[in-house]
Amino acid sequence: MKPVCVLGNGQLGRMLRQAGEPLGISVYPIGLDAEPEAVPYQQSVITAEIERWPQTALTKELERHSNFVNRDIFPLLADRLPQKQLLDELNLATAPWMPLTSPDQWPDIYAQLGDFIIVKRRVGGYDGRGQWRIHPGEENQLPAEIYGECIVEQGIPFSGEVSLIGARDNNGNCVFYPLTHNLHQDGILRMSVALPTPSPTLQQSAQQMLEAILNKLNYVGVMAMECFILGNKLLINELAPRVHNSGHWTQNGASISQFELHLRAILNLPMPTPEVSQTSVMVNLIGTEVHPQWLSLPLVHLHWYEKEVRPARKVGHLNITHNDTQSLQNTLNQLSPLLDEAYQYPIKWALEKLS
Ligand code: ATP
Ligand code: MG
Repeated sequence: MKPVCVLGNGQLGRMLRQAGEPLGISVYPIGLDAEPEAVPYQQSVITAEIERWPQTALTKELERHSNFVNRDIFPLLADRLPQKQLLDELNLATAPWMPLTSPDQWPDIYAQLGDFIIVKRRVGGYDGRGQWRIHPGEENQLPAEIYGECIVEQGIPFSGEVSLIGARDNNGNCVFYPLTHNLHQDGILRMSVALPTPSPTLQQSAQQMLEAILNKLNYVGVMAMECFILGNKLLINELAPRVHNSGHWTQNGASISQFELHLRAILNLPMPTPEVSQTSVMVNLIGTEVHPQWLSLPLVHLHWYEKEVRPARKVGHLNITHNDTQSLQNTLNQLSPLLDEAYQYPIKWALEKLS
């Protein structure tokens, strides 16, 4: 098996490395401190776990590498402006939007998009950072330098958020997981629930949308599509050309995890549709210390990233998977006193999704 170099060395790179190990695939996440001598990059296939990576002599070398899969897609999707233009070009429903280039636009923005506006940095935002929620009269609180650097979107009164994780291989075949239901708080994913049999209409419509995007881009590997549910329709929020936080449940709840699926796709290995026969809940651990008591619950899989704990930082996740809803509910109820206040509403939300 060819080795794989991953641009970026966060938790996604770590989990790609873990997924490669049983298959005999050596995965080398590349961060700022990577030593070129320790990385067999000439023989490797190159991928990325983030849309923009630090520029070092080694990462520049990898960017030029002839085996860098999807190279030209990263700059396109890392910038919200061309990403939104792509969705418009494909006629795929997305939150209505405009480029934000001058303060003179505000009357026009409110006239076209309504009174609840989300300003998003084109490049570099994540976990809700680089975003401002604006109502008429509040626009002068925005920093002056954002003009030209942002887009504006209509605030969508969604009833829920879902994401679809899918993958495309070199021959153009696509496979998908069941939709994941996601709860975000302060722009950060807090909890996900994936049911083995999702709503057929939503699943089908999401698959059609993501397949159109994957094919248009000639993409190879895993991509995530985040959506808002509005009425009985999906609006695309954003795309991520990589493995995704809302797909972490697949580590324990699918026959092939998103990490393994991505490695299979980029290495041109067989890529059957992953089987999912159980319900999964994923709890993101955000700014919390590790709590060994979680391990007293037999269904809990702890994935700890060994990062320094800081507020609002993703430091791990818990996966809980079972085919018996009652067992999942019991586990969530037992977990609730072992998690802080911020998790109490998310646990209620997940219990409702399971009922
Ligand atoms: P990620 O960490 O997923 O990359 P991000 O910082 O890139 O997140 P978005 O996904 O654009 O940001 O937004 C984060 C969350 O903010 C969304 O999941 C949703 O809950 C809310 N949000 C974003 N855009 C809108 C919108 N147009 N209307 C309503 N809510 C929105
Ligand atoms: Mg998002």
